[in-house]
Amino acid sequence: MKDQRKRYAAGYALEFALFCIISLLISLILIIPSLNFELPLPTDTDMGKVTIVIDAGHGGEDGGCEGNGLVEKNLNLDISMRLASLLREAGVNVVMTRETDILLYDKNSDYEGKKKVQDVRRRLEIATEQENAVLVSIHMNYFAETKYSGLQVWYSKNDSKSRILANLIQTEVKTTLQPNNKRSIKEATSGIFLLNNATFPAVLVECGFLSNTDEARALGDAEYRQALAKSIFEAIMKYISQNNT
Ligand SMILES: [Zn+2]
Repeated sequence: MKDQRKRYAAGYALEFALFCIISLLISLILIIPSLNFELPLPTDTDMGKVTIVIDAGHGGEDGGCEGNGLVEKNLNLDISMRLASLLREAGVNVVMTRETDILLYDKNSDYEGKKKVQDVRRRLEIATEQENAVLVSIHMNYFAETKYSGLQVWYSKNDSKSRILANLIQTEVKTTLQPNNKRSIKEATSGIFLLNNATFPAVLVECGFLSNTDEARALGDAEYRQALAKSIFEAIMKYISQNNT
């Protein structure tokens, strides 16, 4: 009798062990497919998500400021084109408000006295038409007192990311090109139409003072303009990688 009971007990134990093993196997079969062992796949690249709208300030009949033999509109376009090339080479979507020496008013309209108003509205429209636009407007500065110099970035208050981008550009230029630049970024007033009306991240870069002899000399040099474009480019790339929403 004792032996028989032992055999029964052993049988139950074996059955229970088998039950446990089978249950475990079933659980694993059910659970494994729901576990994601794969590395996260690169979906859209960060670069594909935003469109950098580069706005070369002024153009055509509107030269912008002038100083030390330089006309703002030409420098704006040159730096904008260099920046666009760097971004495109890195795979970033770029749209430019102008690529030639023109003012963007409607030639078929009654534009007399309205050229500049039509121009800024068209620039805003171009940026607004883009999906996930980030506007970078390129300008030069001028002041009656010639001692002032240094790049300064203005940002739109309408999107908090504008301030982040402005800071990145200001810091990058200080670090790489202008160690003595003490300027800080500034929130745009209603006087800057583009930044005041942008509903997306938007900054305006005053690249330097044409009224300052040393800075104008630097801005007149293609190598310096390339270095400036490179710094702004690096800052934008940092912005894209940090704000890939
Ligand atoms: Zn300007």
